[in-house]
Amino acid sequence: MALKQIDPVRWVLERDFKIGMKVTGLIYGDSYIIQNLEKEGALTQIANVACLPGILKHSFAMPDVHWGYGFPIGGVAAFSLNEGIISPGGVGYDISCGVRVMLTFIEEKEVASCIDELTAALFSRVPSGVGSKGALKISETELLSVLAKGALWAVKKGYGRSEDLECIEERGTLPHANPDAVSKKAIERGKPQLGTLGSGNHFLEIQVIDEIYDENVARQFGLNPGQVTVMIHCGSRGLGHQVCDDYIKVMLRAMNKYGISVPDRQLCCAPLKSEEAKQYLGAMQAAANYALANREIIGQLVREVFGDFFPKSDLKLLYDVSHNMAHIEKHGVEGKQVDVCVHRKGATRAFPPGHPSLPERYIQVGQPVIIPGSMGTESYILVGTKRGMEECFASTCHGAGRVLSRKAAMKSEKADTILKRLEDRGIKVMAETIGTVREEIPEAYKDVSRVVDVVEKAGISRKVARLRPLAVIKG
Ligand code: 5GP
Ligand code: MN
Ligand code: MN
Repeated sequence: MALKQIDPVRWVLERDFKIGMKVTGLIYGDSYIIQNLEKEGALTQIANVACLPGILKHSFAMPDVHWGYGFPIGGVAAFSLNEGIISPGGVGYDISCGVRVMLTFIEEKEVASCIDELTAALFSRVPSGVGSKGALKISETELLSVLAKGALWAVKKGYGRSEDLECIEERGTLPHANPDAVSKKAIERGKPQLGTLGSGNHFLEIQVIDEIYDENVARQFGLNPGQVTVMIHCGSRGLGHQVCDDYIKVMLRAMNKYGISVPDRQLCCAPLKSEEAKQYLGAMQAAANYALANREIIGQLVREVFGDFFPKSDLKLLYDVSHNMAHIEKHGVEGKQVDVCVHRKGATRAFPPGHPSLPERYIQVGQPVIIPGSMGTESYILVGTKRGMEECFASTCHGAGRVLSRKAAMKSEKADTILKRLEDRGIKVMAETIGTVREEIPEAYKDVSRVVDVVEKAGISRKVARLRPLAVIKG
């Protein structure tokens, strides 16, 4: 058997699993997670990624791993800038899809007394659904500015606050964004959608902190038991999707040009040193800036709604982090600190204490990591660790991860039954469509507690707090 367990939560996929593997796979999981993996073809995808030119250390899979376009979701792969590649499939269609958590200074009981009205107000103020349009009417020139400046654009326009910026990855702006590398079609798709949640797995959730695991870190993060929080999950909407689509075509041509062969066309890529890679990096960062602006705007809408209900309260951003991105970062490889290109697709960057990219307030304890569960289960706040930095390029899981495809989930239960079941447990759900409720049934996801326990046992991030859902808005 090519899969070898090396400790309770680490499994190595040996190179004899597939011809062409340049490195081994390293999978974080318990026996239940590993069983699921073999069923759905993710193992082959982990091996395929291991065949890519210039891959460093291992092809990593986090415990929320499942099948994705080319690269598995829950996968992490870092490449040498000299010999390595960049691949749109390793970032994903929803470029810079990510999560943020905002802290309120309100207790659960205060929110409970108006939860129906509050949820309805959020539902009407934050546009959601597949092709939803935002309330912002912006020109093409403005949009180019969004693509260049990210959350900073939103703050400058009054759709956010300057103090938020230091708690957004890269301080809210990806510096090498190139709006000129984004197609007209992508811009057309993105223009009406800024400030919208999107559909399906994207959500806005009111939660309460119901367990603290690490009091010291929780104090630094400003988390207290019984405190209400808001979690927002969304990405770059049609714009990011179009950028991915456009550059898959570019990469297919580049592979011919540079003579690169890959085990699956969906892994199409270009050498990091090539012009094609440079163009994709610029377009990808521009799409990521759109996503960062999008979450900042939605965060501000949430602040306004909470302000209407609780005039004396305020919302503070804990952190905002993408889980579909490729970043050029410094990491230790064979004893040297070098720049590498880390692809995290359905995986979260998790910087350890002392990392120079962290804002002052988190430098002592490490970066907050946000792990959503499902609309019917808890979510978690974790913190980055030194071991994660050294072992897997400062990465951890990004959620529970799917076990059922959308199609399989659709067949499960009627929406009414699901909603009733959640309501009995004190969770109010409002969704744009009935189909979303069925596709997003909590049973469609793995047990998030199990997933989080794996990354904690592996030491690649640590649990800080658990959040219980009170109300969920689904796109
Ligand atoms: P993805 O970015 O892969 O679509 O989703 C990230 C994770 O979000 C999923 O793996 C799942 O665990 C989690 N998730 C999906 N829907 C919800 C929801 O409504 N509420 C919460 N808290 N988590 C969710
Ligand atoms: Mn997304
Ligand atoms: Mn996502």
